[in-house]
Amino acid sequence: MPATFINGAGIAGDIKKEVASEVAGLKQKGVQPGLTVILVGDDAASSAYVNMKARTCEQLGIRSRKIVIPGPVTTAELLARIRSVNEDDSVDGILIQLPLPKQIDKHAVLESVLPSKDVDGFHSSNLGSLLLGHESLVACTPAGVMELLKRSGVQTEGANAVVLGRSDDVGKPQAVLLMHANATVTICHSKTRHLADITRQADILVAAIGRTAMITANHVKPGAVVIDVGTNQVSDRAEIERLFGKDSVRWKDFEKRGYIWVGDVHEREVREVASMMTPVPGGVGPMTIAVLMRNTIKAARMRRGL
Ligand code: NAP
Repeated sequence: MPATFINGAGIAGDIKKEVASEVAGLKQKGVQPGLTVILVGDDAASSAYVNMKARTCEQLGIRSRKIVIPGPVTTAELLARIRSVNEDDSVDGILIQLPLPKQIDKHAVLESVLPSKDVDGFHSSNLGSLLLGHESLVACTPAGVMELLKRSGVQTEGANAVVLGRSDDVGKPQAVLLMHANATVTICHSKTRHLADITRQADILVAAIGRTAMITANHVKPGAVVIDVGTNQVSDRAEIERLFGKDSVRWKDFEKRGYIWVGDVHEREVREVASMMTPVPGGVGPMTIAVLMRNTIKAARMRRGL
């Protein structure tokens, strides 16, 4: 039987409803949570993401502000802007939209965000708290994956979990969260040997590598739960035909837009082997925004000791 798709969009919708009701409760206490997103440069995709975040804030009753710094900017100038948002008491959450232009020192920028307002969970203080198992703001995508697993009834305790990718924003926090959830965790990366031998041990496989459809049936243990974090834009006709076939919904999407989003997992193949899997789009992506909203509320509460 083909794997069941985990409905990320639906689960994200449930979380957003929960956030909206929390916002209403906070408003009764005279608190309106606020999120500020800082966008540097004029990347169209980043701008679309920022607008989507602003729209979601609006829907949920969260005050949102967008700071766009279009022209060439230095790290020092950007740090000065972040300092002023850090000092603004009406702001509970600060998000620096990534990627940053090449001339900017990403590490310095992420470290300059006040940890109590770091709703992306990228500050070393929040990552350290996560490692120690202390209450903190946790990176949205890996936290979203944990919610998907929990709300889909996936047992993590005692499970073999393999995380593909060791980035600071996804792979590493994902592995720590799975370990805290009592899974036995293996992390793989570009230097891992005999990758498929390792991934085939996984009861839960999380792919976050940014390699289009690289994870095939050969990488997956029968009955495994497969979470696809990858988001790769594909506009190559032959590749889309190879991955999905010409009579698929994905092909129709491609004909309409000229490109589609494809995950790190070969959906058609893996669906025949896994028990549950996330689709791309509509799996992990919507969860990232929902958890960002939840983190903003969490920051608002924590800053006020509520
Ligand atoms: P990243 O910083 O580029 O990290 C990629 C990781 O994958 C690295 O650890 C790299 O290993 C590993 N890797 C690359 N090629 C590999 C291979 N052939 N075999 C095994 N491991 C390999 O990317 P990221 O920020 O973690 O993001 C990963 C993917 O998730 C991207 O497609 C990104 O767009 C997507 N993403 C989606 C969301 C969402 O909301 N859906 C959020 C964040 C990211 P090394 O460390 O050895 O280089």
